[in-house]
Amino acid sequence: MPEQIGFVGLGIMGRPMVRNLMKAGYSVTVYDIVSEAVEELASEGAIPASSSDEVASKTDKIITMLPDSADSERAILGEGGVLAGAKSGSVIIDMSSIAPSMSQKIFKECANQGVEMLDAPVSGGEPGAINATLAIMVGGKQEIFDQCYDLLAVMGSNVVLTGDIGAGNITKLANQIIVAANIEALSEAMVLAQKAGVDPERVFNAIRGGLAGSTVMEAKAPMMLDRNFRAGFRIRLHQKDLRNVLQTAQELNVPLPVTALVQQMLGALVNDGEQDLDHSAILHFLEKLAHVEVKKGS
Ligand code: NAD
Repeated sequence: MPEQIGFVGLGIMGRPMVRNLMKAGYSVTVYDIVSEAVEELASEGAIPASSSDEVASKTDKIITMLPDSADSERAILGEGGVLAGAKSGSVIIDMSSIAPSMSQKIFKECANQGVEMLDAPVSGGEPGAINATLAIMVGGKQEIFDQCYDLLAVMGSNVVLTGDIGAGNITKLANQIIVAANIEALSEAMVLAQKAGVDPERVFNAIRGGLAGSTVMEAKAPMMLDRNFRAGFRIRLHQKDLRNVLQTAQELNVPLPVTALVQQMLGALVNDGEQDLDHSAILHFLEKLAHVEVKKGS
């Protein structure tokens, strides 16, 4: 009999992750507050459930993939949540990007009921979820990680335990600092080249192989040059991640001046109605300051 997996949160990331689990032979019971998402996956072979506690009562490993801390708290600890239905010895794997302190809070409540938990946020976006090439950063006990490794490896190509519970989300926050600061620096460089009358596409081609080159540059410079800001990763989700970075940094007394600055830029873009554009639209903030629009061939 195939192993029974539960999955709560069937958004941009959750849906393709469920498909990869089914492709690998797992039987997956699914729930989302949006019933169309449940119906869509049920039509492809998933088992529909009508609540998170129902998912947990029918499975031994339950994955959650939700937007933010409050959503994970509600879906796992809230009324009708995963913990209410979970059996003693079950494992909850929260793959949402949330505040590490919330992962630790959820872990404690689960432990009180004999339920295990890992925090396991991901990087790699929708393409990584579709192609099962996500980087999965895990926090929790070694033996629980070992029990869940094969399951996680179905959804990602790099699954790493970085420490105790919360360490997965600390790792994800570290990732988000680097990505945000890189996009901001790339935007400044593009705007400067444009204003100086030097074709920003030529600048990109000249520097991409040097020390300034990066995965971020390879992914985001072409989007900026094509003026294609259709979301892979939304401004509002990156704003949420940097909020969690700054909250965690404050708890630990760690000043993060550049992250704080980029967080303000993201806030300004949200005010301009750009919350659902790709985070490469940080460029717009710098363009407005310089009164210039980056375009190739100029
Ligand atoms: P999404 O908003 O598309 O999906 C979240 C889903 O959770 C929605 O379908 C929503 O209806 C559901 N949901 C919310 N509250 C619920 C509840 N209480 N019970 C059941 N379902 C509930 O978000 P996403 O893009 O899939 O992202 C999920 C997480 O992954 C976020 O933390 C995000 O930061 C992270 N992430 C996203 C990307 C990306 O590129 N989209 C990349 C890496 C990490």
